[in-house]
Formats: sequence, C-alpha cells, structure tokens
Amino acid sequence: MKKIWSWYLQKSFMTKMTAGFVLGIIAGLILGPQSEMFGPLGELFLKLLKMVVLPLILLSLIVAVNHSNPKELGRIGAKIFPFYIIATGISVCVGIMLAKLTNPGVGLTLPTDVEVVAPEKPSFLSILMNMVPSNIFEAFVAGDVLSVVFVAVVVGLSFLYLRHSGNEEQQAMGELLLKVTNAGNEATMKLLNGILQYAPIGIFGITAQTIGHQGVDTLIVLGKFVGTSYLGVILLLTVVFPIFLKLAGVRVIKFYRDIKEAVFTSFVTCSSLGTLPLTIKCAEKAGINERVAKLTLPIGATVNMNGTALRFGVAVVFAAEIMGITLSVPELATIVIIGTMAAVGTAGVPGAGLIGMSIVFTQAGLPIEIVALTAGVNVLLDMAFTCGNVTGDLVGAKVVDQSERRAERKAAALAAQRGDATVSQASTTE
Ligand code: ASP
Repeated sequence: MKKIWSWYLQKSFMTKMTAGFVLGIIAGLILGPQSEMFGPLGELFLKLLKMVVLPLILLSLIVAVNHSNPKELGRIGAKIFPFYIIATGISVCVGIMLAKLTNPGVGLTLPTDVEVVAPEKPSFLSILMNMVPSNIFEAFVAGDVLSVVFVAVVVGLSFLYLRHSGNEEQQAMGELLLKVTNAGNEATMKLLNGILQYAPIGIFGITAQTIGHQGVDTLIVLGKFVGTSYLGVILLLTVVFPIFLKLAGVRVIKFYRDIKEAVFTSFVTCSSLGTLPLTIKCAEKAGINERVAKLTLPIGATVNMNGTALRFGVAVVFAAEIMGITLSVPELATIVIIGTMAAVGTAGVPGAGLIGMSIVFTQAGLPIEIVALTAGVNVLLDMAFTCGNVTGDLVGAKVVDQSERRAERKAAALAAQRGDATVSQASTTE
C-alpha cells in the first residue's frame, strides 16, 4: 500500500488528472447510468474544493491588500474591470457570428411539453448593493463570494491603516493581525495541497458520472449546438485570448502550459469558483504577481464569464432559428449588451449559465422553453464554457500584471534618470 502511495505521489499532477479523466470516460461508457455509483467520489472533491474557497479568498485577499496600497488597488481595479467587460462583449459577438455560420437551430422545432419560469434579471445597482452584507456571517454562510471579497478588502484596508498609523500600539496590533492572517493563509494553502492529491480520483468520479448519464440521443439532436459551442470556446482559447496576450507581450504557449491544470480542472468540475484555488496556484506558476492574482482572480471567478457569454451569443441565434426569426443588427447589438450584463451576473457554479440564458431570452423576447431544450446537454456545454471562463480570468490577471510591470519599469527608469540628473547637477555645481 505504501509503495502504491509513493508511486502515486511521484507521478505528475497532470498525468494523474489525465488518467482520472480517461478512466472516467471508459467507466462511463462501459457502465452507462450505473456509473452513478462513482458520483460520490466527484462530489467529495467538489465539496473539499468549496470548503477552502471562502477561507482562501478571505485570507489571501487580506494579505494581498496589505502588500499593496489603496492607490494600487484602485489602479488594478481600473484595469481589470474594462478587460472583463471588453472580453465578455467580444465573447458574445464571437458566439453570435459563429452561430450565424453554422446555423445550429435550423431544422429544429420548439418543444411543447416543457414549462420554465423566467427568473428576474438582477439590476446592476442590485448587484452592487448586494456586495455589501448587512451581516458578515450571513455572507459566509450563504457562500456569497462578492460579499466575502468586499469584506476581505475592507478588513484588509483596516489592517493596512493600523500598520501605518502614527500610534505605535496600533502599529503593533496591525502587524500581529497580519501575521495571524498570513499564518492562516499558509495553512489553507497546505490544506489545498492535500485536497489536490485527491483531485484525480475526484475527476474520475465526475467524468464517469457525466459520461454515463449523458443521453446520446439528445446529443445527436443538439449536436450542432454543442459543436458550435465547443468551436466557439476553441476560438476564444486559440484566437481571442492569444490576441490579448500578444498585445500584452506574453508568450502564449508558455502561458497556456503554466495554466493547464486550472483549465483542465475547470473543464471537469464545471465550476469557476470550485477551480479558484487551483487558478490562484497556476497564476503563480505563470509568473503573475501574487498581489495581482489574489486581487483579481476571486472577482474574476464571479464576474468574468467569457465562455458563458459566448453561450448566450450562440443560444440566441439558435433560438431565433428555431422560431424562424431573423434578428436585425440593432437587435443583435442589444443582445450583446444584455448578454454581457447577464454573464457578469452569472455565478461561477455548475449550471448557472442556464439561468443566465433564461434572463437573456426573456430580455430578448425569445421563448425560454428553448432553454429547457438545451438542458439535456448542459453538463457537456458547461464543461467547455467554464473552461473559457477560467482561462479568461487568468488571461485578465496576466494582462493586468504585464501592464503593472511595465508601469513599474517606467517608474524605475524615470527615477534612475532623475537620479542621474541630480548626480550630474551635483557634479556641475562642484
Ligand atoms: N459553470 C460556469 C462557471 O462556473 C458558469 C455557467 O454555468 O456558465 O463558470
């Protein structure tokens, strides 16, 4: 047993994950619905990941805030949010354009035997207001990530101000609080490392259950829709994101090699939030400054949904084709805006995109029964879209990191120049 364990430990993480995935597919194909019995293995993995998400966000954000300053926080925010909005808007456009080429809905009819209730669209103001919890503990109990991010930033700022206060006693308190938080953060990372040892088994469980359950019949009917969605995500990963990365001066292949574990995990878990601990780890590998990664990634996992946005684009054309409607350019432009907003409002958890899709359809005046039509293949779709979401978060973090580094280099060069000028001025005066 000891031998097997040390053999297991020696294998690279990616090899073990791939093995778990491939074995899961085989088990799912052979056992069909019976592969349900492996479900608990996957559920355990997701539960363990979710268990560390909130402490990780809280502790690592407090530490990150303390390693920066309020000015830097504002600057990073001013860079990452425009990235999220632009990348999300582009993703909806890619989805629309691609679906216009592949016509995934042509030849399909509207199902009549399903009933769906349209959810209410959250307004931008309500998203912002909901970020501020009236009860900190409630935010944690509800697992409300944006509220936890808010709490972490303000608590982090209070530590920062204590540490830089003119009062020595307050300074000492601030340092002590930060030290304890730092220790907690390290302990959480250790916990995460332990959980990741279990990851390949969890991946096996999730894959076996998904493959075993996915009805081949629905897949054939919706094959074009699924194919267009996968093609869209491939386009995001191989064309759209590389353009952003190239513009920021990043070596694309190396970057993808560094983040592959997070991308792979997001594909299998269908959860940006569940993948977050790994996303943060991979960001470190990709050379993203810890501060930038820890400040942007938890927010990205909740608001930046590039894959989900692509889904909305594909789905709207899909639904319009089923209904025999041709959407005009202004209508499509409106859908890009609605899709972007709905993607921002979509939670980073499995299946959340279906709710977002209902919101987009309601706003666009399309029948939400079509949402139910795609529900049968949602797990397969969710895998690809979540992959697009997590990759987009990491691309955003990398782009901001590059821009921060450039600014730092510029400032250093300017300081050096000023230093030279002072020295030469001094020598002329001499
Ligand atoms: N599952 C996706 C995510 O976690 C969200 C979605 O359903 O589109 O990023």
